[in-house]
Amino acid sequence: KVAQMGHPILRKVAKKLTEKEIHTPFIQQLIDDMIDTMREYDGVGLAAPQVHESRQIAVLEITEDNPRYPEEELVPTTIFINPVVTPLTKKTMGVWEGCLSVKGLRGLVHRPEHIKLEALDRHGKKIVQEYKGFAAVAIQHETDHLFGKIFVDQMADMTKLAFIDEFKKYHLGEEFDLE
Ligand code: ZN
Repeated sequence: KVAQMGHPILRKVAKKLTEKEIHTPFIQQLIDDMIDTMREYDGVGLAAPQVHESRQIAVLEITEDNPRYPEEELVPTTIFINPVVTPLTKKTMGVWEGCLSVKGLRGLVHRPEHIKLEALDRHGKKIVQEYKGFAAVAIQHETDHLFGKIFVDQMADMTKLAFIDEFKKYHLGEEFDLE
């Protein structure tokens, strides 16, 4: 169901939506399906290309139910369309990222820890929101998908790519710096 790394759709720049398109039943249904899929796979976020739709839509949700990131600040279900991310700091943070399209792997990625997101919500209303810490990283991860990028592209050190069992055994707690 979720496209895996190597599928060409994950490498395409997704198409922006017009405001008219956002209101169509097709797009509204796609958004609902994306939320369901994200929850079904215990993901923090999901981008439309991951479900084989090359459109600039992503969903994100950081809840208490998500077992991967128990200490993170919660983010309610957020739908963002045609996003533009602007870093608000040069300071980066390292997070061992995972991805529903890179099953079974984690990799250490450094990204700006404070960003501004400008996008449209599912009603076509403009969103301007700042995010810090893990939420900022998650927004950047999902936005990358809409531009044909996967987290491994952002890795500076490929020795920090690991299967989940080895990650837990050898790297847990390493460089997860929210300061
Ligand atoms: Zn991903």
